[in-house]
Amino acid sequence: DEIGALPELVKRMHNQVGAADYRMQMMPASEVKKALPLIGPDVSGGSYCPHDGHVNSLRTFRAFHTGFKAFGVDYFPERPVSAISKRGGEFRLTTPQGELRAAKVVLAAGNANQTLAPMVGLHAPMGPTRGQIVVTERTMPFLPHPLTTIRQTDEGTVMIGDSREEELDDRTLKHSISAVMADRAQRMFPHLARLNVVRSWAGIRVMPQDGFPIYDQSESHPGAFVACCHSGVTLASNHAFDVARMVAQGALEPELVGAFSARRFGGNGAANHSGY
Ligand SMILES: Cc1cc2nc3c(=O)[nH]c(=O)nc-3n(C[C@H](O)[C@H](O)[C@H](O)COP(=O)(O)OP(=O)(O)OC[C@H]3O[C@@H](n4cnc5c(N)ncnc54)[C@H](O)[C@@H]3O)c2cc1C
Repeated sequence: DEIGALPELVKRMHNQVGAADYRMQMMPASEVKKALPLIGPDVSGGSYCPHDGHVNSLRTFRAFHTGFKAFGVDYFPERPVSAISKRGGEFRLTTPQGELRAAKVVLAAGNANQTLAPMVGLHAPMGPTRGQIVVTERTMPFLPHPLTTIRQTDEGTVMIGDSREEELDDRTLKHSISAVMADRAQRMFPHLARLNVVRSWAGIRVMPQDGFPIYDQSESHPGAFVACCHSGVTLASNHAFDVARMVAQGALEPELVGAFSARRFGGNGAANHSGY
């Protein structure tokens, strides 16, 4: 059963060389009830990890823009790059609003990195999936920890959802999927059944083909880097403090991020131009 299989999975992850001590513990239903008094009778137990955390992604986004201002970064939205070349020691980026020039370039265009990376001798094989989220009206604080499929923001709204679909059209919603997610949520927390849904949306996940981040630097085009991953909100501090520092210094550090080079995908193509 699910409750029995989870500790086995975490044990296998622990056994990997250099794995962190997650301090994950399994909890019987009575313990879950103590931690989350509004949990429903259908829940037979849970897992808890003190390292799990939650951020409001809109606030993270705003924090980055505050940082841009503080450090004098110019942000040019709605300027899709269609070509990149390197001449005279400078990268030249073609956009509909004209050319941009830079000494270094970090490809951080999500799934579009798959197209941009080969322009600078890099490789970013992506395998995006679609996900749907249901958001309720604000309610009293009841969920101090993020759960895998339910989280409460600091503003009180509840985000429900974890769907993973192959279809890559984010313009429509599948109500049958929202219904399954909402039903599971109200079985976990029966009081959610009383809340109004204020919005639901579908989004395309930025997803490297094997699910793990890609951080790489180009050998053929020194000064070009690629950074793409799922869970970009969770990993935002690593990107801001570690990856950005390495890019500023001019080289990624193999001992920190070498395992995330696109070399792991093998092949004879651009992957072999990784500058590690
Ligand atoms: C349903 C769903 C649930 C998720 N849940 C979580 C979660 O719980 N925790 C978590 O950490 N993450 C979660 N994510 C993932 C998170 O949103 C992504 O990891 C993150 O957005 C990736 O950030 P990014 O900046 O790499 O890519 P993106 O957010 O895709 O940003 C890429 C940017 O590049 C721009 N761009 C594209 N093409 C070009 C081009 N040619 N030239 C210039 N610019 C270009 C785009 O306009 C965009 O602004 C979720 C995603 C979805 C869809």
